[in-house]
Amino acid sequence: MDINTEGELMEKIVTLCKRRGFIFQSSEIYGGFNGFWDYGPYGSMLKKAVEALWWNEMVETRNNVVGLDSTIICHPKTWKASGHVDRFGDIMCDCRDCKTRFRVDQMPDPTTCSNCGSKNLTPPREFNLMMKTYVGPVFDEEHIAYLRAESCQPIFLDFNLIRIATRQQLPFGIAQIGKAFRNEITPRMFTFRSREFTQMEMEFFCADEGSMDWWEYWRKERWNFYREKLGFREDEIRLHPHDKLAHYAKAAVDIEFQFPFGWGELEGIHHRGTWDMSQHQQFSEQDLTYWDQQNNKRFLPTVIETSVGLDRMILAIFTHAYREDKAPTQKEGMDEDVRIVLGFPARIAPVQVAVLPLSKKLNERAEALQQDLRRYYRTEFDVTGNIGKRYRRQDEIGTPFCVTVDFETENDNAVTVRERDSMAQERVSVTSLKSYLDNKIFGW
Ligand code: ATP
Repeated sequence: MDINTEGELMEKIVTLCKRRGFIFQSSEIYGGFNGFWDYGPYGSMLKKAVEALWWNEMVETRNNVVGLDSTIICHPKTWKASGHVDRFGDIMCDCRDCKTRFRVDQMPDPTTCSNCGSKNLTPPREFNLMMKTYVGPVFDEEHIAYLRAESCQPIFLDFNLIRIATRQQLPFGIAQIGKAFRNEITPRMFTFRSREFTQMEMEFFCADEGSMDWWEYWRKERWNFYREKLGFREDEIRLHPHDKLAHYAKAAVDIEFQFPFGWGELEGIHHRGTWDMSQHQQFSEQDLTYWDQQNNKRFLPTVIETSVGLDRMILAIFTHAYREDKAPTQKEGMDEDVRIVLGFPARIAPVQVAVLPLSKKLNERAEALQQDLRRYYRTEFDVTGNIGKRYRRQDEIGTPFCVTVDFETENDNAVTVRERDSMAQERVSVTSLKSYLDNKIFGW
């Protein structure tokens, strides 16, 4: 079955995510809350693992990128300076007949309702996407603050403090993972367009001279991340250069992914010129220029940005990973059965190693083994059901390795390791199990 062309893939992913506790609607007992999603036990493990992979890639393995964990609410002037208060909106129109609301730039024909075909539409109107709150004892205009609409703005505010504290010199980057909030008018496509989501952003500060080389560099780095670290195929991702550039930008490209509903933006790699720094310099009346001692020059840093939504990345990971295999079965009247597999890369799988004793009598031995393994890997212990069922349960959550403890283990001090994708089974001695798994999971 070609699940990709059937248009049902999204439904299958959403159903599996809920059934196995990856992702489900927020506040479901109250009927859910549109645009908000909770990550359950396996989902939160996956999310943390993907975050850790990105952080390792962008910060821990580089000397010229440092990290930040800033507040969600920052000084309201930030969003004046960034242009979000005045301009951050979508142009929307409503169908007067069926009451559906559309983003005008996403309508195939802006004069016709794509839901009911009516031409009776309201004129396009702008909706601001910033979420508002009040800070302080009085709920009035003066006390309005905003939940950040993107995680990168605090990076610009903290640039000087971080530069001085870390003694970094240009070029260098500041990375942050954090929540962002947008009052999206039409949240949809599962987590693709949410109202609360997590962004992983890096702002790279450099001199204008040579900045296009840095933009090229980051574009390649980010492309390689998807190909090499997440294993996305060449035909699943593509580069989409922006047709129209912001007046301050020299270059902008999106990495798009082929989601079940079609191509969609996953990550943007943008050359932002000195726009952000000059706006914050003007609004804060602080000097944000950089003194380049070597060349005896003072200038505002140019910024190259890489910006990706973690939730979209996870949806892409699910799309890439979801598979249905035909597997032989002993079920009565059936030769084959459908085996649902999430082919997650081992490094990010929520459970990396499942320990399965073949009989309850072996529980103690198996538990001791799990205790040992959980020091290095995310593990799970499963004793219920026959071994075939347990393998299936692990396949569905993407566990790359199942380690079975059987009655022979007592004699040969070895276990059977079953690999998710090939279903091949290998006898491995307990003493070499760690180096075996390290090699398979981390490539060490
Ligand atoms: P779109 O055109 O899809 O609305 P955008 O161009 O507004 O996206 P950016 O402001 O560049 O997006 O945000 C950077 C990244 O943050 C996006 O590439 C995407 O991965 C993620 N992102 C943006 N909006 C949302 C959202 N509502 N829900 C989930 N992720 C989002």
